[in-house]
Amino acid sequence: MNFDFTEEQELLRKMTRQFVDKEILPNMRMWDEQGRFDPGVLTKLADLGLMGVCIPEVYGGSGMDYNSLAIVCEELERGDTAFRTAVSVHIGLNSLTLLQWGNEGQKQKYLVPQATGEKIGAFGLTEPGAGSDVAAIQTTAANKGDHYVLNGQKTWISLCDTADHFIVFAYTDKSKKHHGISAFIVERSTAGFSSKATKGKLGIRAGNTGELFFEDVKVPTENLLGKEGDGFKIAMSALDNGRFTVAAGACGLIMACLEASVDYCHERKTFGHEIGKHQLVQQMVANMEAGLQMSRLLVYRAGELKNQGKRNTRETSLAKWQACDFANTAADDAVQVHGAYGYSNEYPVERHLRNSKAPVIYEGTREIHTIMQAQYVLGYRKDKPLDHMLPAWPYEPDEQ
Ligand SMILES: Cc1cc2nc3c(=O)[nH]c(=O)nc-3n(C[C@H](O)[C@H](O)[C@H](O)COP(=O)(O)OP(=O)(O)OC[C@H]3O[C@@H](n4cnc5c(N)ncnc54)[C@H](O)[C@@H]3O)c2cc1C
Repeated sequence: MNFDFTEEQELLRKMTRQFVDKEILPNMRMWDEQGRFDPGVLTKLADLGLMGVCIPEVYGGSGMDYNSLAIVCEELERGDTAFRTAVSVHIGLNSLTLLQWGNEGQKQKYLVPQATGEKIGAFGLTEPGAGSDVAAIQTTAANKGDHYVLNGQKTWISLCDTADHFIVFAYTDKSKKHHGISAFIVERSTAGFSSKATKGKLGIRAGNTGELFFEDVKVPTENLLGKEGDGFKIAMSALDNGRFTVAAGACGLIMACLEASVDYCHERKTFGHEIGKHQLVQQMVANMEAGLQMSRLLVYRAGELKNQGKRNTRETSLAKWQACDFANTAADDAVQVHGAYGYSNEYPVERHLRNSKAPVIYEGTREIHTIMQAQYVLGYRKDKPLDHMLPAWPYEPDEQ
């Protein structure tokens, strides 16, 4: 057990923090007010090698470990949830899934340009009638020999208008229930594909979220990920990686709440003292610190299991559930610490409160993770190694 970051990880944190301070925070209020996603931020992240931070160098990435991905997500969400969400989807849900399940041809064609940030990846699972209940999806993929024809609709898809490639889940055989779901790599440029951003969101307003439409979309057979019927397993393993990034990001949101609250505690005076001297205010700040430290331990433990190439569904789910709940509470308390000023966008904490809600819903709601943890403890749920595991770090191509 080693709790120290490596020198490389410390440098990565410093670089990402400087990037957030210079490129994101000065613009955040404006982007949030305008509800505008700036894809130029992703280009700049790519220039720093962060769009493929934990993708092996042989596939165009920076070759760092999985906890380095956590560090990037933590620091990005200290800026805003929108950019961490973009990285969660691009790396956590898409690129790592290609690394885990893709064949060599798919890795060369799709993973390499994603790892360099030349192309952006996203993940289409949720549908108007299917969120937590994945097997309720309606999108179909008809096997036509040398290609599949996809028909259906996805909703709440992050980077819907921005991504070049999507991993899309559809039924190839409805009679087999969740064993009949398959996963496909779909290019935006394919005829019959379209997308539309969703307006009026509570938070992540500087993000790009919306719908995908598939009308007789022809997808070549070589874009089937894994085998027919592997889709459910692929989706769940992708979520193990996405949830890890969401949990790490939640630590960053707590950090942002703490920073703003500590500053305000020293700035604001009531009854002749700075408010940080009042014990009930101290309690809120102390809870934020406790939430941050506990969440980090859970996140880095899950990351270490990933580094070892071990199944981590249970640990990642716990980290995601707890860190997102802590972040939601921290944001609520941060607004409280700021009093009425916290209720205005003159201070960043109202944005943090709005942003902190979606992570409690996406990538497994609070209730789904609660149930999962209960099932593990009660012995109703047990995980076996998958036929395709996320490769251990450092990456050894021969082991694949
Ligand atoms: C900002 C944002 C970005 C997103 N990005 C993506 C993306 O990129 N790709 C993607 O595929 N999806 C994405 N999603 C969708 C997200 O993953 C789903 O919203 C989530 O899985 C929950 O599904 P749902 O909204 O349909 O809620 P439902 O599944 O309908 O749940 C509604 C309520 O019922 C509860 N519930 C459901 N089943 C149970 C049960 N068995 N026991 C107890 N309670 C239960 C839930 O916890 C919740 O409180 C995004 C969502 C948001 C808000």
